Amino acid sequence: MDLTRSPADEAFRAEARAWLVAHVPAVPLPSLETAEGFAAHRGWEAELAADRWSVVSWPSAYGGRDADLMRWLAFEEEYHAAGAPGRVGQNGVSLLAPTLFDHGTPEQRARVLPPMATGEVVWAQAWSEPEAGSDLASLTSRAVRADGGWRLSGQKTWSSRAAFADRAFGLFRSEPGPAKPQQGLTYLMFDLLAPGVTVRPIGRLDGKPAFAELFLDEVFVPDEDVIGEPGQGWRVAMSTAGNERGLTLRSPGRFLAAADRLAALWRTHGDPSDTALRDRVADAVIGARAYQLFTYANASRFLEGERIGPESSLNKVFWSELDIALHETALDLLGTEGESADTEWSEGYVFSLAGPIYAGTNEIQRDIVAERLLGLPKGRR
Ligand SMILES: Cc1cc2nc3c(=O)[nH]c(=O)nc-3n(C[C@H](O)[C@H](O)[C@H](O)COP(=O)(O)OP(=O)(O)OC[C@H]3O[C@@H](n4cnc5c(N)ncnc54)[C@H](O)[C@@H]3O)c2cc1C
Repeated sequence: MDLTRSPADEAFRAEARAWLVAHVPAVPLPSLETAEGFAAHRGWEAELAADRWSVVSWPSAYGGRDADLMRWLAFEEEYHAAGAPGRVGQNGVSLLAPTLFDHGTPEQRARVLPPMATGEVVWAQAWSEPEAGSDLASLTSRAVRADGGWRLSGQKTWSSRAAFADRAFGLFRSEPGPAKPQQGLTYLMFDLLAPGVTVRPIGRLDGKPAFAELFLDEVFVPDEDVIGEPGQGWRVAMSTAGNERGLTLRSPGRFLAAADRLAALWRTHGDPSDTALRDRVADAVIGARAYQLFTYANASRFLEGERIGPESSLNKVFWSELDIALHETALDLLGTEGESADTEWSEGYVFSLAGPIYAGTNEIQRDIVAERLLGLPKGRR
């Protein structure tokens, strides 16, 4: 791994830092899991996009800066260190966009990516179903051939921010009764305001209303919104899953910034005689640094032409456990003050608890690591 940075790389980082210093709102925006916060974060996406900071790793033709992974990681470090708002466009930018770069048509990229980059169209991920989470291939929502397109029916669930999003992407069974459940699936984009779509919020632990389930009743989708070949949706979806668990969903910058805040908290609130808590602070800071280096190593391999494989599951387990440890340690430091107030730490703690579940549960990721990375025998299913 070569960590030397060129003067151009350093200039990119400095430009990002200066822009963020000048633009990050002085008062944090309301939570993006509320209607008010969602709208405010959409505005923030537009502000980022106006100066081409919303999608730095995309080609400039779509509003990006052609940044390679190392520059993207540098941008993310600066972004989180500056305390910039969470990204309401994240599902689209981190999951759908890479899928379109790999499998979409030029027409789809030209139509979908620019309004995604500006936050004008915010996307929800509609993969999970009530009986198809870990075993995604067992999904039963259908896509039936219609004149000029498809009609979608069924139920999707656990869709982050779908209560306020504009459009969604998901997998549908287009060929009933294939030999293997992974066959006969089609990957489609659809409008959350289309006739036949009902969006119903699901209550979350923190009471915020953006999480939702979707009911689809004969929703028409034109052929131009199929990604890849009909029936080949599994292959398309797997490239999205690699991105979700691996490099792009949780950049190290997020945890490095949290670790810095935790160290600062120790300095103001820590009891020097509490060596057990002090060690947990140190462990969390070391964990964030380790995650940064591991990600740099993966990014270097990626830039040398390797594909991200099962090690993306290692990433997923590591960041989700690190996130919980960082927040638990902060709350223990703050004592009752931390738990009673609606602070960044208490809100982050509640969300961190979902980390081992979303983007594929950690039990499943551990199976992947055991079987595909370590070559251990397959467990019982
Ligand atoms: C905050 C949050 C946000 C989410 N956002 C989205 C979203 O935007 N879009 C979306 O489509 N989905 C989303 N999800 C859904 C998430 O991807 C699923 O919850 C997850 O894949 C697990 O599926 P499940 O809930 O059906 O649980 P199940 O698959 O029923 O699993 C239940 C338990 O059994 C374990 N288990 C199951 N099979 C095995 C096995 N073979 N070996 C070992 N253990 C096993 C699991 O690990 C888990 O602990 C979100 C979930 C959460 C909590």
